[in-house]
Amino acid sequence: MIDRPTVDKIMDAANIVDVVSEFVSLRKTGASFKGLCPFHDDRTPSFSVSPVRGVYKCFSCGAAGNVVKFIMEHEQMTYPEALRWLANKYHIEVRERELSTEERQQESERESMFLVNEWAAKYFEDVLHNDVDGVAIGMQYFRSRGFRDDIIRKFRLGFCLTSRHAFADAALKAGYQKEFLTKTGLCFERDNGELTDRFNGRVLFPWIGVSGKVTAFGGRLLDSRTKGVSQKYVNSPDSDIYHKERELYGIYQPRRLLPSTTSSTWSKAIPT
Ligand SMILES: [Zn+2]
Repeated sequence: MIDRPTVDKIMDAANIVDVVSEFVSLRKTGASFKGLCPFHDDRTPSFSVSPVRGVYKCFSCGAAGNVVKFIMEHEQMTYPEALRWLANKYHIEVRERELSTEERQQESERESMFLVNEWAAKYFEDVLHNDVDGVAIGMQYFRSRGFRDDIIRKFRLGFCLTSRHAFADAALKAGYQKEFLTKTGLCFERDNGELTDRFNGRVLFPWIGVSGKVTAFGGRLLDSRTKGVSQKYVNSPDSDIYHKERELYGIYQPRRLLPSTTSSTWSKAIPT
């Protein structure tokens, strides 16, 4: 965790006009600077930056905040990512604070969950591309919905076999612990202690966060099985690494691969 003195140094060094100017062309008007707002489709310069107060504000859409908030919103970064971005810009060495025992345990649990999710994403992709049923059922579905190969690869789409515990068996065999298979919501534990796959028989859309890590999965039932089924989609439950309301499907790919495309375009790529 970034220590307090480093945060203070970053905040002292960061000049909001300087930072915003990397993305928005600003013109000085009196004590503040004005430009076109990067957060809405702005035709008149509604965006104002006050170097004295260290804040920005858009008088049209209401976007406002300090220099860290600007980077978080504009670059879709988390708070620590934005701090590191600023530290890098101002050549400030980032010092980490030792985590407490409790914090460290939480961190290692989160890490384990990300590892399981990453393995699962690869497994589901592999099934989709290489398993006989994966190709016949999952891939056939994506093709019938007009998904192109590059999109299927880019979004790391996958398929979970219809057998109720094919994934759980493979994960346990690969050495992943039951605890993290259930905490990520990939599996349920039944009363007899056996694991069942949450996503069996579904095509899978991994949710990839801004850091590029798989935070969760959305699973869609195939059309042939949706008759009379009320829940076509199943998502991973909320967990320590996934909070639905804070995630936006496709947030990662457009930013890294298609800088000019908005996330909402990709949300539309998911069949309803
Ligand atoms: Zn605005």
